[in-house]
Order: sequence, then structure tokens, then C-alpha cells
Amino acid sequence: MATVEENLWRQTAGEDAAWPVLEERQQASIAVIGGGYTGLSAALHLAERGQDVALLEAGTIGEGASGRNGGQVIPGLKQDPEAVERIWGPGLGRRAIAFAAAAPDLVFDLIDRHAIACDARRSGWLQPAASPRHLPMLERRIAQWREHGAELSLLSRGETAERLGTDAYWGALFDPRGGSLHPLRYARGLARAAMRAGARLFGRSPGRAVLRTADGWRLATPRGELRCGAVVCATNAYGDPAGMGIGPCILPIWSVQVATDPQPPALRAGILRDGLCASDTRRFLTYFRLDPDGRFVIGGRGASGARGRARAFSALRRRALALFPELEPSWRFAWGGLVALTENHLPQLVEPAPGLLLAFGYNGRGVALATAIGRVLADRLCGAEEGDLPLPLLRRPRPWPLAPWLRLQLPLASGLAALLERGVAARGR
Ligand SMILES: Cc1cc2nc3c(=O)[nH]c(=O)nc-3n(C[C@H](O)[C@H](O)[C@H](O)COP(=O)(O)OP(=O)(O)OC[C@H]3O[C@@H](n4cnc5c(N)ncnc54)[C@H](O)[C@@H]3O)c2cc1C
Repeated sequence: MATVEENLWRQTAGEDAAWPVLEERQQASIAVIGGGYTGLSAALHLAERGQDVALLEAGTIGEGASGRNGGQVIPGLKQDPEAVERIWGPGLGRRAIAFAAAAPDLVFDLIDRHAIACDARRSGWLQPAASPRHLPMLERRIAQWREHGAELSLLSRGETAERLGTDAYWGALFDPRGGSLHPLRYARGLARAAMRAGARLFGRSPGRAVLRTADGWRLATPRGELRCGAVVCATNAYGDPAGMGIGPCILPIWSVQVATDPQPPALRAGILRDGLCASDTRRFLTYFRLDPDGRFVIGGRGASGARGRARAFSALRRRALALFPELEPSWRFAWGGLVALTENHLPQLVEPAPGLLLAFGYNGRGVALATAIGRVLADRLCGAEEGDLPLPLLRRPRPWPLAPWLRLQLPLASGLAALLERGVAARGR
């Protein structure tokens, strides 16, 4: 059993390229800060359009959530289509829904086009109901997506048990547009594609200050500086180098995962059929899949301190065995990362000044969404009109007044929610 935190994806991604550190004074037409999917996709799409791009990453490529996530490619926004239209209005809402629905297409297309070896599989995504009371919600979700032309379906309890290999769920939403991948290999593949397209990528080069100059922007790093005409900040829950006040707009919560050694072939044949991945309907959801080598990977709500995380790892192992009692409990990996939640569960695209863009707040849906929003950032910097963008363009980040208070209440709230959900599940049985 893992005694120290060890990230499965980092252990199995192979060697990374040796990205140089930014030194001395350099110039670029556009600087991108953050080497996750948002920044990498922005850099790739900008470089493909002939822009001179330099990307700064504080650690290594995929250091943040993009190298730590569950690798589930999930279509759509966290909100259902009707809620998106209600919040953003019918015109923009419909554009946003179509955009988020197509986000997995972009991911799988980029993987094909740039020959990214990241174990990509488009075998669908399952959202199993943790309680019979969640089934009407899934039915409404399916009906709403069908109005937007997506072929989602509701699996019966028996079909769900057959596909997942556990009878813990009451039915499930099946979305054929989803799939899975190796998250860190995907991030590194985007980085290499951006480099081949002409972008310059720098590792261990945190952007420390973003200052306006007479003719653009100046970014200081510990060993150099970058002068540029425009800046993209793609640091999500991991920083706010432009000092734009992202902090009060998000609730950065820990999500943690544990994974076993490869499971025996007979067991693998009986669970998570056809490479399915699943995220259930609990408020603090549990998500799980097998990786291509047959390791069982499960994730859920974590905690910020090492002790709290250790407790969350143990709880996940217990949950895994409750779902799949036949699993071999050869737990080898345990790790976590930060998810950026926003008040309305929708991402924010912000342009505080001409030539400065930020995007953050994917609410746990960033594998596809962050990739797609990276391309939107590139579109905007290449002249896309505000009215043609698929998301509202904010002038400043939208604060979440309760976020600072919620941060303090998180440990209590998660304990309470876990108790409530245990109660709901027990009543359902
Ligand atoms: C445990 C976990 C599981 C998840 N599972 C899923 C899933 O299965 N499916 C899904 O769709 N989404 C999932 N997500 C969410 C998804 O991973 C994120 O939404 C997505 O990766 C965000 O990408 P990003 O590029 O915006 O941010 P990140 O990947 O976090 O990248 C931000 C980068 O900015 C860098 N940085 C910060 N400050 C600076 C600075 N000053 N200078 C330079 N660089 C800086 C950081 O080092 C980091 O690399 C999960 C997230 C976590 C944490």
C-alpha cells in the first residue's frame, strides 16, 4: 500500500522533454502562463496561426490538475442545458451548449492529428445513480441533451450492473460522446505539438509579475523576463500571477485518487466493460475506471492537509471494495490535485484589459473544456469578435462572495454531506 503520495500518471508517462528555463530578457508576441490544457491548447492554436508564442510553466508540463486528473473526457458543462440557457440567456446559452458538446471532438481530433500517444479511448461515459431519487434528474438531463441532438440514453439497473460489474447503482446515464485518456501523456503531447508548431515552452519558470508597459506587457521570472504584446493567464486553481483577483472567485477543492496494480485478467473482463469510465451522481462524487494496463483507479473528494488526504485515500479504498468486493487490494498509488469550483458552476473567460486574457473554473470538467477554451483564447487574440465567442467575456473575474467563508467550512461541510449521502443511499436500498 502506498505510504507516500505517488501519482500514477507521473509514474507511467515515461520521460518528459527537458524544457528550458527562461533566462535573460526575451521577446514574444504572446505569452501564455501555465502549462496545463488551457495554456497548452492556447499556445498550440496560436502557434498554428503563425503567432510567436512563449509559454511559461512554474513547474513541469502538467504540474497542476492536467497531470493529476481522472482522465475522463466528459462532454458538456457542469450545468445542464436548461440551466446554461437560463444563466447566459438563450442565444449565448445555445452557443455555449453546442461548444461544450463538441469539446470531446476537439480532444480526440487533436490526439489524432498530432499522433499523441495517450491511451485515448472513446468508449462513452457513464453517470450512475447513487440513489433511486437521482433517476428523475438523469431523465431530465437526457431529455434536455436530446433536444440539442445528443444521443444520450438511460440504462436500467440491470444494464448498469452488467456494464459496470457492480449492483451498487440504480441506473445510469450513458453518453457515447465521452471517453478516457492518460491525462499527463495528453498534456505532454499537446506541449510537443505546440513546440512543433513553433511555440517556445519554458519549465521551472514561474511568471511572478505581469506589468503593463508602454508597448505591451512585461513578465518577470526568477532568472529572466519576457516582453510581449499580449498575455494569457491559464493557471486555474494554481495561481493568479496577474493579480486579477481569481482567489475570491473560486473555491479550490482537493480531489484525490488511489489506484491498484494491474488487476487479474479474469476480474478485468467482468468490470467496466468496453473501457467505460464513470462518475456517479453523489454531491461529492466518486469516479472510477480501469487504465489500459488494468489498474483500478478511483477518485473522490479530498482534503488540503496530508493527514486529511490520508483519511480520504483510506475512505476511497474502502469505497472501491464496497463497489467491487472482488478487487485485488494492491493499492500502489495515491495522489490529489486542485479543482476550481465557481459559484454558478460555469467557467469564466475574462479580459480585464485589451491583450490580457484569463480562463478558469471548469468545475471538474476540464479535460475537454479547458482544451476547447484554450482554442477560444487563441481565437480572441487572433481577432474573434466578442459576439462570436461561445462564452460571456467578462471585464473582471466574477466573485463568489461566500467562497472565503466556504473555504473555512469545507471540512465540516464535506463531513456533513458524506453523512447525508450515506443516509440517502441507505434509504434508497
Ligand atoms: C484529481 C482531479 C481529478 C479530475 N478529474 C477530471 C476528469 O476526470 N475529467 C475532467 O474533465 N476534469 C477533471 N479534473 C479537472 C481538470 O483536470 C482541470 O479542469 C484541468 O486540468 C484544468 O486545466 P488548466 O490548464 O486550466 O489548469 P492546470 O492544469 O491546473 O494548469 C495550471 C498550471 O499553471 C501553472 N502555474 C501556476 N502559477 C504559475 C505561474 N505563476 N507561472 C507559471 N505557471 C504557473 C501550474 O503549475 C499548472 O501547471 C480533475 C481535476 C483534479 C485535480
